[in-house]
Amino acid sequence: MTDDVLAVAEHRRGSLRDVSFEAVTAGRQVADATGGQLHLAVVGGDVDEFAEELNREGVDVIHTVDYGEDFNHDVYAQAVTALREELDPSVLLMPNSVNGLDYAPAVANRLDLPLVTDCVGLEVDGGLVATREMYGSKVETTAEVDLPVAVTIRGAEWPAAEGVGDAAVEAFDAAIDEGAIGSTVTGYEEVAGGDVDISEADVLVSIGRGIGEEDNLDLIFDLSEALDATVSSSRPIVDSGWLPKNRQVGQSGKTVTPDVYLAIGISGAVQHVAGMKGSDTIVAVNTDPNAPIFDIADYGIVGDLFEVVPELIEEFE
Ligand SMILES: Cc1cc2nc3c(=O)[nH]c(=O)nc-3n(C[C@H](O)[C@H](O)[C@H](O)COP(=O)(O)OP(=O)(O)OC[C@H]3O[C@@H](n4cnc5c(N)ncnc54)[C@H](O)[C@@H]3O)c2cc1C
Repeated sequence: MTDDVLAVAEHRRGSLRDVSFEAVTAGRQVADATGGQLHLAVVGGDVDEFAEELNREGVDVIHTVDYGEDFNHDVYAQAVTALREELDPSVLLMPNSVNGLDYAPAVANRLDLPLVTDCVGLEVDGGLVATREMYGSKVETTAEVDLPVAVTIRGAEWPAAEGVGDAAVEAFDAAIDEGAIGSTVTGYEEVAGGDVDISEADVLVSIGRGIGEEDNLDLIFDLSEALDATVSSSRPIVDSGWLPKNRQVGQSGKTVTPDVYLAIGISGAVQHVAGMKGSDTIVAVNTDPNAPIFDIADYGIVGDLFEVVPELIEEFE
C-alpha cells in the first residue's frame, strides 16, 4: 500500500460536476496527511478536455480512461477497480452521488475494502477518521477505519479546488471487458421541468410554505427573472405539487452551492439547511425573527414577503 490517494471525478452529459473539484480538495487534504500524492481518475467522455479542466492546484497525476461517453456502472466498476489495483492508494475517494453510490460498493466489494459512505469530514490518525451526519444532520458520528479504505464524500462539504495545477496526465488502459458490460444507456428523458438543474445555478430564489398559495408563485418567478436567477423550493412546495421534485433543496432533495441563496418564507428546518448551507451568501426573508434560517443567513429581512419581494423586484429591475 502506498501513502497516495486516488479520487474519482464525475461528469454528466459533457460537463464535469462540482463534486469533482470538491474531491480534489478533500483528496489533497487526505494526501497531505498521509504524505502521499493525489491521483485523479476520469472515466469516459472527452477525457482530454476533462483532464485539462481537472488540472487544479494540488493534483499530482490525472489518469484518463478513454472508454464510453456517459456513466456506465460496469465500465466505472471495472476501470476504478483496475486503477486502484495499479496504484494501491491508502484512500480511494468517490462522490456520494447517484453515480458514485452506484459503483462505489461494487468497487469496494471487488477489492475487499471497507467502504464509508456520505462522509462530510476526513482526517488521518493512524487510520482514517471519517465524519458522517445522521438523523437529518442533527448528530455527527465518526468512523475509525484502518487503511486502505474506500470512501464516498458528500457534495458541497469541501470547497472546490481552484488555481491551475501542473499535474501529469496519463492514459490508463483499464482493459475493460466488454462482455462484462451488462447495461447500456440508450437515451435520456427529461422529467417535467427537467431543463432546470438547481445544483448548477449561481443564484437561487428559493420559496417555502410562507408563499401560502400556488398562484402566489408568480411573484417568485418575477423576482427570479429580475435577478436572472433560478427558482428552487423547500419540500412542502414540492409535496403540494406546486413545483416539480427537481426544484427541491434539502436532505431528500438536491444539495446546492450557489453564490447567492435567497430563502423566502422558509423556516430553516435541518432537512432544508442540509441542502443549502454550502451557499456562499444566504439571504433570508421571513416574518418570524426567531426563524432558524436567520441563524445561518448572512443577511436577514424580517418582513412579509408580499411586501418585501415586490420591493426587491422594483429595485433589481
Ligand atoms: C426525512 C425528512 C426529509 C426531509 N427532507 C426535506 C428536504 O429535502 N427539503 C426540505 O425543505 N424539507 C425537508 N423536510 C421537511 C422539513 O422538516 C420541513 O418541514 C420543511 O423544510 C419546512 O418547509 P418550509 O420552511 O417551507 O415551511 P415551514 O417550516 O412551515 O416555514 C414557513 C416559514 O415561512 C414564514 N412565513 C410565513 N408567512 C410568511 C410571509 N408572508 N412572509 C415571509 N415569511 C413568511 C414562517 O414564519 C415560516 O418560518 C424533510 C423532513 C423529513 C422528516
